[in-house]
This record gives sequence, structure tokens and C-alpha cells, in this order.
Amino acid sequence: MDIGGDILVAGVLVEISHQSVDKIFDYFIPSSILSDIQVGVRVVVPFGKMTLEGFVLEIKNHKDTEAELKEIIEVVDRDVVLTEELLSLGKEIQKTTIATLISCYQVMLPKALKAKNGKKIGIRYDTYYQLNSSFDSSIKLTPVQNKIIDSVRDKGEVLRKELVDISSSAVSTLVKKGVLVEEKREHYRLQNMIYREEKKKLTDDQEHVVKEVINHPNRTFLLYGVTGSGKTEVYMEIIDYYLSLGKTSIVLVPEISLTPQMVMRFQSRFGEKIAALHSGLSDGEKYDEWRRIYRGEVSIVIGARSAIFAPLTNIGVIIVDEEHSDSYKQSDPSPRYQAKDIAIWRSHYHQCSVVLGSATPSLESMARAQKGVYSFLSLPNRVNGKKLPPVKIVDMNQVMKQNRGYFSQELLSGIEKRLEKSEQVILLLNRRGYSSFVTCKNCGFTFKCPNCDITLTYHKSSNTLRCHYCGYGEKVFSKCPECGEASLNNLGVGTQKIEEELMKVFPSSRILRMDYDTTSRKGMHEKMITAFQNHEYDILLGTQMVAKGLDFSNVTLVGVINADTSLNIPDFRSGENTFSLLSQVAGRSGRSERDGEVVIQTFNPEHYAIRYAAGHDYFSFYQEEMKIRRQLKYPPYYYLCNIRISGRDATYLFDEALKIKRSLERYLENVIILGPSVATIFKMNNIYRYHILLKYKDSKNIYPIFLKIIDHYQKNAKIKIDIDFNPSQIM
Ligand code: ADP
Ligand code: ZN
Repeated sequence: MDIGGDILVAGVLVEISHQSVDKIFDYFIPSSILSDIQVGVRVVVPFGKMTLEGFVLEIKNHKDTEAELKEIIEVVDRDVVLTEELLSLGKEIQKTTIATLISCYQVMLPKALKAKNGKKIGIRYDTYYQLNSSFDSSIKLTPVQNKIIDSVRDKGEVLRKELVDISSSAVSTLVKKGVLVEEKREHYRLQNMIYREEKKKLTDDQEHVVKEVINHPNRTFLLYGVTGSGKTEVYMEIIDYYLSLGKTSIVLVPEISLTPQMVMRFQSRFGEKIAALHSGLSDGEKYDEWRRIYRGEVSIVIGARSAIFAPLTNIGVIIVDEEHSDSYKQSDPSPRYQAKDIAIWRSHYHQCSVVLGSATPSLESMARAQKGVYSFLSLPNRVNGKKLPPVKIVDMNQVMKQNRGYFSQELLSGIEKRLEKSEQVILLLNRRGYSSFVTCKNCGFTFKCPNCDITLTYHKSSNTLRCHYCGYGEKVFSKCPECGEASLNNLGVGTQKIEEELMKVFPSSRILRMDYDTTSRKGMHEKMITAFQNHEYDILLGTQMVAKGLDFSNVTLVGVINADTSLNIPDFRSGENTFSLLSQVAGRSGRSERDGEVVIQTFNPEHYAIRYAAGHDYFSFYQEEMKIRRQLKYPPYYYLCNIRISGRDATYLFDEALKIKRSLERYLENVIILGPSVATIFKMNNIYRYHILLKYKDSKNIYPIFLKIIDHYQKNAKIKIDIDFNPSQIM
């Protein structure tokens, strides 16, 4: 490392995420650690009065002999933690999200590799003993020691825990005497199951998709495939192909704990070659998996959003399943990155392809496919040739007039029929988001913003309804303007209540309730799925988590108890999200030989999202939704950016927010600026939140003015500015 006798200096980025110190600081490299210093390693450095960890981002010759530099204290780990690829990816994320550079590096690494992770998460070791082949056989040994030696001689080598059962002091003595040799080896906390699933003979449609992908190794594909069309099988085939070329793969799934069936299929096909990164792993287990990946001991990584940063080399393909899912966008904390964008960035770096798959592609991705930016592929039919199940829409306005219950006659008789035939039922309770809005208890009417077409949010303190995009407000009506009903503010019901009601109607049925409460314990979700699969229950009742990726052959009825709640969420994507949710859950019915059926209960039977979901008609939905997006200047016609302004003093905040808006107006042309308006949740932990929403087509001028604004408020403790480009939700 010695370059011509010059003194070497390392440029270090320290682990404090604040704009004011988010730059490279120079340190001398003491000669004692010179050989361990490389770009990308973690080091400990003095920083003011503190001692901090940081990353070495550059190594250079020291030119200026005047400057007094401090010395690096030590190297934390010998491995290069940030590879060359991740180093430049971090800079890209910083540029596109305006986050601190250090936060962009931290987000890529497992917690164990971050400074201040509380207790240090270490590498776990196993200790092995072998016989020293040249030990002095004249040494006098006790019977216990002889027993140990015999045991080691028999097996060749023995784990420490087997020997200490005999006597730990005898083991130490034998090591001291040079009879036994001790060796520490890393021990991974997770043991992968190894069993193999035979691959299936692909259908012609599947074959075609696989060929297209592997014949064009440098593209982004959008794979539209209806539920049960065999997308997962296609992914595995593509991965297998790259495996045979010695290349690696990343598979992103929305929430890995919610897709145990899919992960199991991957594990059984690829065995020990796969690492599954999920939130159920302990920090230590995650760190072990990260090292296995880093060392090239696995070829396939499957995981949620952050698995996109897996330190694989030589990537052959990146697959993003359920690509429409908003879980691929990180909302908080910063950096607010989109994993699909990172997938595409990495695919350019590795010259490989990306496959974005979904039964209900996001409007953004579909629009790009239409423009030819992405290559479009489709699996329009179910693998087994079965039609998608017929869907019945039930108008709850009528049901309310008759019995005011939660269940329509259609749904009740459907359930009854299944129970008689010993078939199974899935019921979806579509839970609302956590903002509050007013709906009519009788007809389901909701108040919408005339400018933005989103549901108005109820603010109790002022008894007003407000649009949290543009700031529009009105007083709360005392009666429903549609039907005259005086009882407004129906806040919806929970799964527990529905379970109770269901028990009353079907006292002998076995009901499994699956929601946040019943699945929060580790492993519960998998257990429930297995139990339902084994027909230990007749009815699976749950929230959104029953809609995704489940494959039960005996389910012939899917019922949606309330399709409207997701329509009422104050978000311009509420139609898209509802369409996608209903399509997903409908796809759980009639997946094998027996015919399936779906019943959707709704107060908005005419709503296009519900009608097209019932007709399994993605393309008509897409066209209708695109018209609305164009009219109201929403994505994919315009980009959105949300500026959140928060702090403790609401009046001061609003004044500053106005100033920010005015300066944006002065600098930016052809940008629509909405607000400042109160956020959906205006006050949270005594922090008030306003926001300004930007709609634009060209981001060129936006970044420089944002940087100026951030710089201006950098040292102001009364105000915090957060910027979210292409937000998944605007809260
Ligand atoms: P998707 O991911 O599109 O919902 P899957 O890949 O899960 O579809 O396939 C649906 C079902 O069909 C699964 O049970 C799967 O094992 C089965 N399957 C997929 N491809 C084939 C095939 N070529 N031959 C037989 N069965 C298949
Ligand atoms: Zn509005």
C-alpha cells in the first residue's frame, strides 16, 4: 500500500446522519494498520470529543504538510463492507432522494454492521478439536484424558460441546500439553433445509416467457400474469438457467412473512443455494446470511425491499414479484428509495435483466410497458386451463335497508353451501387506513375534494373536513347529502366483531381469524396457513394478509365483506389499490379442479374499480384509471413530490411553509404547487405536520432549489424538512 513513501490519508464518512457532517473527513493512516485499510472498510476515528465509526471512501496521498490530521484508531472488520458497486449505488441514492450519504450506505447493510446498534452483534464460532499428530506419546495421561483422546481419534475431529461433557478441564490440559489442537470456525445461526422439489413441465405460454427473458439478457420486463398463471414457476425456471451459467439472482417479494408458501417453494427447489432474508430473523441471523451472501456461498437471495441491496456479484436476473406493491417504496426513515429503481440501476451495473411481475401491474409500470420502455410479457390464463372464478357484486345499500347486518343473503348461503360440501371459505375484511374520514352509515357516501378527487379527512378539533393534498376545507354536514341519513361517521368494524357475528350464524363452523393481533407472534402466520391447508378450519377470516399469494386447493368461495373501505382512503391511488386487492383475493378461489366463486359486498356497486375487478378486466381498469390520472394530473402523467414540514410550533411552521411555497413558485416554472396543507395526521407526538405537494413533468430544476431549501433550514432546530419523491402514500 506504500505509494512512493508518501504519507497516506483516508477520506472517512462518519456514521452521523446529519447534513452538516455528511461529508468526507481526512485522517492519517497509521502504518500499523496500513495493510488492512481499503476503500469500503469500516474504521473507528476520533471526531471532535467523540469516537465514531465510519466508512473509508477514498485513499489518497497527503499533499498539504501543514494540515494537522488525526489518526484512524482502528479497523473494525477486515472485509470490505461496501463493495465498489454499493459505493456508487449509495451516491446515486443520495442524488435521487436528497438523503444524507451516510444514511444511503447504512440502509444497505444489516444492523450488525451499523454503529450504535446497541449491543454489538458478533460472529458466532464453534470450537473444534483434532489430535496433534506429532504429540509426545510418553506423556502420562489420566483415564479421563485417554477417553477424550480416543473419542477424538475415532471421529477425526470433535466439537467442543461434545468433549466438555466428559471434562472441560481435561480438554484444556490436553490443549496445553500439545496433545489436542484447537480450531475456531464460524458458525451460521441458520441451518437451511435441504430437500428437492421436481420442476414442472412448463406450458407453452410459460415457455415463451422464459425464452423471451433469457434471450434478452439486458432488459426490464413487465410480466402481466393472472393469479395462478404460473409466474412463480417461470421465475424459478429463469433463475435455474442463470444458476447453470454460474450467475446469481435476487427475488423481491412484498412481505416475506406473508408469503411463506412461495419461500418454501424456492427453498425446496434450490436448497442450500438460497438465502431468505425476512423480518423474522434475529439480527445475528441476518448478519450470518449477509456474510454467506457476501462470500459467494449462496446464489439466490429472496427477501423484502431491503434484499435489493444483497451484496451478490455476477447477477443474472432480478425479479420483483407483485411489483405493484407499495412496500417496495421506503417511506420512512430517509432515504426514501424505490426498490424497483434500485433493481434497474443494479441491472445496468451487472448488464442483466429485471422482471417485474404482477396480476395487477402498477399504472406507472404498465404505462412504461406501453411506451416500450419496458418489454411486455403476458400469461393471460391459469396454468390448469381453468377460468377465473365468477364474481357476484352485492349492493349493500339494499342489504342495509333490509337487515342492517354485515352479511348479505348471497354470502350467507354461499358459506352454508361450502360448509355442507366440506369445502373452504376465505373472507376478507378490508380494513381502513388510520386516518379518519366521514362516511354515511346508511349508504356509504363519502365526502371528496372537488379539486383532487380524494376523500376528505375529518379534523375533530375544528369539526371540519379537509383535503390534505390542496388544503380545501368544508364544515361537516349533519346529514348525508345523498340519502338524508343523520347517522354519519361509520368507523367500520374489526375482524373480532365479524368473527363473533359469524359464530352466531354458523355455530359449528371452525373459524380461523388472521389479522395483526393473531399473527404478531413469531411463526404464527405459517402455523395458521398450514392449519388451514390441513382443513383444521372451514373459514379463514382476515385482513389484507389473506389476499396475497396463498394457494389453497380446497377454497371454493371468497367473500369480501366490505370492498369500500380501501376506496375511501384519502389517496389518489385508492381506486388502483382497491382493484388490485379485490383481484388478488378473488384469485384465491377455485384454484384446482373444483369451481370457485367470489362474492363482493359493496356500497358502490357501480364503481369502476369494483366492476372491473369483478370482471377480471385489468386492461379496461387501466384505461379508465389512466383517464382520471390524466385529468387530475397524477402519476404516471406527472411526477409527485411531497415536502413535509414538521415541528412543535404550528404557527411558525405554517409561516415558513408559505415562504417555502413562495420561493418554489419564484424558481420553478411548469410545476403545480399545492398547499401548504395539514397532513392527514396533523399532530403526532406533539409534532405538527404540514406539507406541500408538487406535480411536475421535468425534475431538472427541482433538485437545486430543494438543496437550497434544505441548506437554509439545516441549522434551524424548530423546523424539519423531509422530502419524498414519488411517494407511495401522502400522509
Ligand atoms: P402465480 O405465481 O402466477 O399465482 P404459480 O406459479 O403459483 O402461479 O402457479 C399456480 C399453481 O400452478 C401452483 O400450484 C403451481 O405449482 C402450479 N403450476 C405452475 N406451473 C405449472 C406447470 N407448468 N405445470 C403444472 N403445474 C404448474
Ligand atoms: Zn384537494
